[in-house]
Amino acid sequence: MALIVQKYGGTSVGNPERIKNVARKVAKFQAAGNQVVVVVSAMSGETNRLIALAKEVAGAPDPRELDVVVSTGEQVTIGLLCMALQDIGVKAKSYTGGQVRILTDSAHTKARILNIDEAPIKKDLDEGNVVVVAGFQGVDEHGAITTLGRGGSDTTGVALAAALKADECQIYTDVDGVYTTDPRVVPEARKLDTITFEEMLELASLGSKVLQIRSVEFAGKYKVKLRVLSSFQEEGEGTLITVEEEQNMEQPVISGIAFNRDEAKLTVLGVPDKPGIAYQILGPVADANIEVDMIIQNVSKDGTTDFSFTVARGELDKAVKVLEAVKEHIGARTIVTDRTMAKVSIVGVGMRSHAGVASQMFRTLAEEGINIQMISTSEIKISVAIEEKYLELAVRVLHKAFGLDVAA
Ligand code: ASP
Ligand code: MG
Repeated sequence: MALIVQKYGGTSVGNPERIKNVARKVAKFQAAGNQVVVVVSAMSGETNRLIALAKEVAGAPDPRELDVVVSTGEQVTIGLLCMALQDIGVKAKSYTGGQVRILTDSAHTKARILNIDEAPIKKDLDEGNVVVVAGFQGVDEHGAITTLGRGGSDTTGVALAAALKADECQIYTDVDGVYTTDPRVVPEARKLDTITFEEMLELASLGSKVLQIRSVEFAGKYKVKLRVLSSFQEEGEGTLITVEEEQNMEQPVISGIAFNRDEAKLTVLGVPDKPGIAYQILGPVADANIEVDMIIQNVSKDGTTDFSFTVARGELDKAVKVLEAVKEHIGARTIVTDRTMAKVSIVGVGMRSHAGVASQMFRTLAEEGINIQMISTSEIKISVAIEEKYLELAVRVLHKAFGLDVAA
């Protein structure tokens, strides 16, 4: 008998018919001899609705009270799913985060899980129940309701799987797994059978929304067997997130391509080339809470240099204001901006053991006449900043060049 934690996202429980569909799926797993713990999100759109409601009442809602409001979405779905299960003859019992006791710190709207009391859940399972737990929420040491950040139900699922030492944590969503890239841009994109935790973390931080980043970190740390699957398909193995050592030798060099259209570049021209300049430019930017992504400093010529960095497009105007304010003090000549940048990243643990991955990427882009403006790398990732109008072309040619079009 296996113990499985299944998490169903907002679209999977988006209306009564879909909730009944989830109930049938869960019942099937239990009938096959498994113990099943289910974590659910709020019905799709509900969390957004609740946040908007709070903002209509107060300009800056108190975080403690905001958590009281937004956590209710999940409370509705746990009750409804239990009713649907009972309606088809399955014993089921619901718990809010506070009832399980999923203990978190007190960082409202982005709390971290500290401890889970798994004993009551185990007892219910042993008595033949399906246990349904509200995702996204917990309770702090003072008994205040907390939430775990947007997409946090994934983390609830993984944390419960770790606490219960579950055999597998299955994340059911509206896609049937993790893809080599976005199929809307590259129709040849393929579903991956496996991907490593590290690759998944890179993809998540590059903007893939399949899993909340924190849930991937958690699963890696506690070695939870994590799988992403579609809640709308009867069959399918989804994508299994694995640890690197378990990968077979034939693993491709590159596993996936991520991209982001939403970048902008700032260049500070003619800054004196002396110690402290990077700090004087980026310090005020950080103080303004603007996240900086790629950074380049040119070689100096006649004692001055150019300094470029990228920010999210929506932050460009704010960043320019910050720089205009410090420009004179730094002794910079001028600031130029480019609002229409995009970032393309190739990700793969195979890069560690293969030389020439970067040059292959650069050659592929050069052959299409695509100019690379900035480059940044990690051990398993190479990102380039290019003009946005070339983004889709870049993703398509790279997908082909690295053999992602054909099954491994
Ligand atoms: N309902 C929450 C959200 O929309 C949590 C989740 O769905 O994972 O972010
Ligand atoms: Mg989600």
